[in-house]
Amino acid sequence: MSFTTTSFQLDGRRALITGSSRGIGLELARGLGAAGATVVINDRNAEKAKAVAAQLREAGINAETAIFDVTNPEQLQAAIDNLEAQNGAIDILVNNAGIQKRAPLEDFCASDWHALMRVNLDGVFHTSQAVARHMIKRQRGKIINICSVQSQLARPTIAPYAASKGAVKMLTQSMCAEWARHGIQANGLAPGYFATEMNQALVDNPEFSEWLCKRTPAGRWGRVEELCGAAVFLASAASDFINGQTLFVDGGLTSVV
Ligand code: NAP
Repeated sequence: MSFTTTSFQLDGRRALITGSSRGIGLELARGLGAAGATVVINDRNAEKAKAVAAQLREAGINAETAIFDVTNPEQLQAAIDNLEAQNGAIDILVNNAGIQKRAPLEDFCASDWHALMRVNLDGVFHTSQAVARHMIKRQRGKIINICSVQSQLARPTIAPYAASKGAVKMLTQSMCAEWARHGIQANGLAPGYFATEMNQALVDNPEFSEWLCKRTPAGRWGRVEELCGAAVFLASAASDFINGQTLFVDGGLTSVV
């Protein structure tokens, strides 16, 4: 089929975005919705998810909800099976839910390590497995795993986060290795530094901001809406032969030393 700009349209597609009632997840829901997708807002709290979905509907976006904790495999499997049965196919999965914990590596407590891995890595594994089983039956699907510049570069005090995001990048390539033949494209989207609640400690630290603006070729923090173009591209037919890649949206940070 020849290329037209409609290749970027997501009309008739349903996109589930984990952890999407705030921050990057919410912005990606707005972006995918603006491109025509029905978006499914996921949160652990039903009231929060419903309120966000209602706001999106007021803005003209088709929005539904799915309530689950990405660290609870039984709960998420049931919610995803229910969504597929009641609402219809999940065509696009964005594994966005994530947490950060900071401490020197030698002092990092094991329970914090495991808590972080359960959300950032196990959550991607369980959610993708639950959704991919349906996608495999249809021989079609798009999975976008939210990685990070820490998928490639380390920094002091965030060793578990960097380890989790490096693992998500390789899990993305493994999804490609096993699921590409089923018509599924799995790619990573790796943000640089964006001012969200996760980064509040960094946003509040002028020395960090000064360092970041010098370190980033673009000379500034990212704006969350700047992630949407890449997400729409990776969710759409325009990227149908792109698989297992990680696209860095970081103002050039990972391209330079
Ligand atoms: P955020 O503002 O802290 O939002 C995180 C979202 O994940 C929240 O909606 C949160 O829900 C949800 N979440 C946490 N644990 C969950 C669980 N167990 N089950 C379901 N949802 C859960 O963070 P963000 O900055 O938007 O980050 C989103 C993603 O981008 C993360 O994967 C992060 O690692 C990645 N990232 C962010 C940046 C950045 O600069 N901000 C850079 C690179 C990568 P609650 O509201 O209930 O806590």
